[in-house]
Amino acid sequence: MSIVHAIIGYGGMGSWHHRSLREHVPAIHVKGAWDIREEARQKAAEAGILAYDSLESLLDDPEVQLVTIATPNNFHKDLCIAALRAGKNVICEKPVTLNAQELTEIIDVARETGLLFTVHHNRRLDRDYRIVQEVIASGVLGRPYFLESKVQGSRRSLHGWRGHKLNGGGMLLDWGIHLIDQMMDLIDSPVVAVDAHLLSIYTPEVDDNIKLTLTFENGAVAMLEMATNCLINAPRWHISGTDGTMVVENWECDGRIMRLKPDGEMAWEDDIVYTAAGPTRTMAPRPAHTMEELPLPQVETHWSDYYNNIVDVLEHGAAPMVTHDQLLRVMRVVDLLFESAAEGVGKSCHI
Ligand code: NAD
Repeated sequence: MSIVHAIIGYGGMGSWHHRSLREHVPAIHVKGAWDIREEARQKAAEAGILAYDSLESLLDDPEVQLVTIATPNNFHKDLCIAALRAGKNVICEKPVTLNAQELTEIIDVARETGLLFTVHHNRRLDRDYRIVQEVIASGVLGRPYFLESKVQGSRRSLHGWRGHKLNGGGMLLDWGIHLIDQMMDLIDSPVVAVDAHLLSIYTPEVDDNIKLTLTFENGAVAMLEMATNCLINAPRWHISGTDGTMVVENWECDGRIMRLKPDGEMAWEDDIVYTAAGPTRTMAPRPAHTMEELPLPQVETHWSDYYNNIVDVLEHGAAPMVTHDQLLRVMRVVDLLFESAAEGVGKSCHI
């Protein structure tokens, strides 16, 4: 018996959820979808599922056990609460809400009803992220202290509702939430300071090119950047650890690890080295024989594992991959980043 599922908001992501489930997760059966646009409802019908004629008819359907919400961000809170109150388990798209207060309201209803409420943080299953996770856990880099994570587009605009404040648009809530969630999943330590530069270069109402810094209690510093006008990209990841450096260039996961050889300690000589930038000891290239290059590990991952976890949660009582505590921590950091940008100062915290 499959879990009966319905989708609210059948646009880009809603229809992706449908296709993805149909192709990869037989344990979940998508019965239908509701969208405020007639055209989107028609697409759902053409794709072979029931196009509900109202939100109420979807929520009143006693067969539906699980609902995924994939509307613009400002509707998430009310729709999550309505679906939980109608007795449905709920997956919400990211960003779950516009701030931590709204999220708390949903979590209260989820606790009261005892139903599943979680968020589609699919980028925890991205191959580049899983590689970084594996390399750091292996210890090959030693203690990671600078972690740069960047996504740099070049098409300038934020598409459609993403450019509007009312809809919860802007880069921090769109891609920022993914990169922050990854970083806070990666580093097992509280965030003790944040700093944000949120520029609006092409999209007047919202931030579109942003740089964020998160400092963790264990000393790790994460630098996140999201751009819409970058014509020469920096690596997707650049990580400095006490024993090595790692680069993942792109989503195809080209990259490498350079680490110090176990016996690669340099005998420091006092000689100045003459480089193209003039004489320097500190910045001169390290002798090649003191280092070794390692390939990035091969990692298999698939986004459908997100839904496989949901099936395990609903059928076998497993723990959800994305928990309320994690969601609240991320939204508190997002709240503080907005404050930091508005006030033009870094903020300390313990999140
Ligand atoms: P979209 O504009 O393509 O689709 C949104 C759909 O929601 C539209 O069809 C619209 O008609 C419908 N809609 C609007 N208000 C509604 C309402 N009140 N009730 C029902 N339907 C409503 O947007 P999208 O790119 O699909 O984004 C939707 C959500 O998915 C956003 O929260 C976005 O952040 C998220 N998203 C997540 C990922 C990811 O990788 N996890 C990727 C893209 C988008």
